[in-house]
Amino acid sequence: MKVPVWLILTAAAALAAGPLPIKDLPPGKVMMVIQPHHDDHTTDYGMGGLIAQFTDAGYESHFVRASNDEKDGAHGYGHNDLINERECKAAIAILGMSELYSLSWRNDYMDPVPLQELRAQLIFLIRKHRPDVVLTHDPWGHYDRNPDHRKVARAMGDAYWLAGLENVHPEHFALGVRPHRVPYLFYKARVDYGKGHEPNVAVELNESQVRRKMRAYSTHRNVYASPAMARSVREQLAQEGLELPDLRGLTDEAAAVEMEEWHMDWISRKRGRENGVRYAEVYYFVDEFDHLPGLKEYLRQHTVQR
Ligand SMILES: [Zn+2]
Repeated sequence: MKVPVWLILTAAAALAAGPLPIKDLPPGKVMMVIQPHHDDHTTDYGMGGLIAQFTDAGYESHFVRASNDEKDGAHGYGHNDLINERECKAAIAILGMSELYSLSWRNDYMDPVPLQELRAQLIFLIRKHRPDVVLTHDPWGHYDRNPDHRKVARAMGDAYWLAGLENVHPEHFALGVRPHRVPYLFYKARVDYGKGHEPNVAVELNESQVRRKMRAYSTHRNVYASPAMARSVREQLAQEGLELPDLRGLTDEAAAVEMEEWHMDWISRKRGRENGVRYAEVYYFVDEFDHLPGLKEYLRQHTVQR
């Protein structure tokens, strides 16, 4: 029987849209989040819930912010840098992270930064903290419009394995660090912003992790939860003779925080619904690299008692 092409394509699309496998945390005790910006650890498409899950499980955790974020906000370059750093510290504390590194490269002006210099910094930090897992931007998100995302993701995509090679930046070893290759990675999977890999896992979140993710997000007041946004939504509703009872008596800033948090709740539920759980985030997970996959099988089949 000849099967029409449209039927094959429809069936393939239905298969592709199935739920993702729920991923448990990989083994380990140290986690690093390496991102371009102060707020990339907790935007709507990740990674706040997963970070909270790692810290709940007792992982030591470090956040690296590559940019100085001077263009994010309306207070001028110098003040934006200081405010964003302060809010970033407060937000990562909500998620249970302990330490912030600000590499402070100029926001949106990273093209002249030598890739090798940025990569060397990441390699050094990886060697210093020896993470079992890194959460980061997808280096293959080719359509990401944000130049800092592309630059830092590319450097990170190189650094996580180059850090394990003895002949790469041997000068680091004089400072007491040793080579270390990161075994596990979670890449952000935001297909509406910079399509890279399709997500291959979902991470199930509990209620507390979602609440902390929402609070961490709205802690970035310099760039989110804008009172002007809340005012304009309220004015628009008022023109139509409508209001939101939940926002009665709140200032525009408090209303903006509420609105942003509803959005975060919505995306966590949506990802959960798509994957058969209550709340979730989705990622492209990179498993431990095995350069001799046939060796384990060979040993299993041929090893004998001496
Ligand atoms: Zn960013």
